Amino acid sequence: MADRIETQVLRVRNIYDDMEPLQKAAEILAGGGLVAFPTETVYGLGANALDEKAVAGIFKAKGRPQDNPLIVHVCDLDMIGPLVTEIPEAALRLAGAFWPGPLTMIFPKSGAVPQVTSGGLPTVAIRFPAHMVARELIRRADVPIAAPSANLSGSPSPTTAEHCIHDLMGRVDAIVDSGSCGVGVESTVVSLVGEMPRVLRPGGVTVEQLREVLGEVEVDPAVCAPLAEGKAAASPGMKYKHYAPRAHVVILEGGRQAFAKYVNARAGDGIYAMCFEEDVPGLSVPSVSYGGEGDDASQAVRLFAVLRQMDELGAKTVYAHCPARTGVGLAVYNRLLRAAAFEVVRL
Ligand code: AMP
Ligand code: MG
Repeated sequence: MADRIETQVLRVRNIYDDMEPLQKAAEILAGGGLVAFPTETVYGLGANALDEKAVAGIFKAKGRPQDNPLIVHVCDLDMIGPLVTEIPEAALRLAGAFWPGPLTMIFPKSGAVPQVTSGGLPTVAIRFPAHMVARELIRRADVPIAAPSANLSGSPSPTTAEHCIHDLMGRVDAIVDSGSCGVGVESTVVSLVGEMPRVLRPGGVTVEQLREVLGEVEVDPAVCAPLAEGKAAASPGMKYKHYAPRAHVVILEGGRQAFAKYVNARAGDGIYAMCFEEDVPGLSVPSVSYGGEGDDASQAVRLFAVLRQMDELGAKTVYAHCPARTGVGLAVYNRLLRAAAFEVVRL
């Protein structure tokens, strides 16, 4: 474990009347420190993306594998030029449609981006977040900010400052507390370095929305399936079991009645259901709803908090009702699959 350091919790209600804590957080970042901060997707753990030592600190604090690259966050388009060798036309169109927002684009990287930031890849992932506190923090730090999610590697991503405090207290310099995140799952990652735009990770911007702007867009097979053995990961993050609580998670794919029948037949010590609002009345095991059945946005907002709640409740096995794979539901499904280490039962 990393040596324990003192972590300041800085409360920032909004950027208009809370300048002092935000300025303090920005100075910590500019000075090479580590700061967890809110974005519209999940909380990020930030460091100066151009400072190798600072970025190495992120990997140490999270226990993150070295080959898992970080997303570099900027607060305006001018910050991108020095980080890349080329800005494809498709990127400009996506930026026009979805930035600032929950979309990350992969570009060929310039020499300014250290290898530790890009996980040794020749590319760099860039995002322009919409969250006002995140943008103001980057503006004040005046450097691009590398930030993965602000959780311990492998555990569910943090959607509140309390989640960051739980995972990172004593491991980072500061945690900016600005309430809960509006989207709840990480950004969509789209690669623009190949012949065809390719979604490496689904997220807050949907595949349907990307297709409206770009026409054809591929979805990497690894989004919904484990990597075939021996196949190289386009995005090293794809390789690991991830987002998982301590409990054993099993995804059940099927209708409401089949779900209830399967789960109720297994009622017992430590058995929990993670289900839709509409499932709750039909279940005889303890259950926590992660949103309405047809409401992918609410499922995304609640997913990670509910996965964490399962550990607090002492769940041993969690039966999760499979979400639809459309809209933001594809991102919810993608995260749940990894939380379940790809264990899916078709009812
Ligand atoms: P997180 O794991 O939440 O920190 O999000 C970062 C993810 O973005 C990584 O796990 C990768 O999936 C993806 N990513 C970042 N940089 C790159 C890159 N250069 N090429 C491909 N994927 C990337
Ligand atoms: Mg993460």
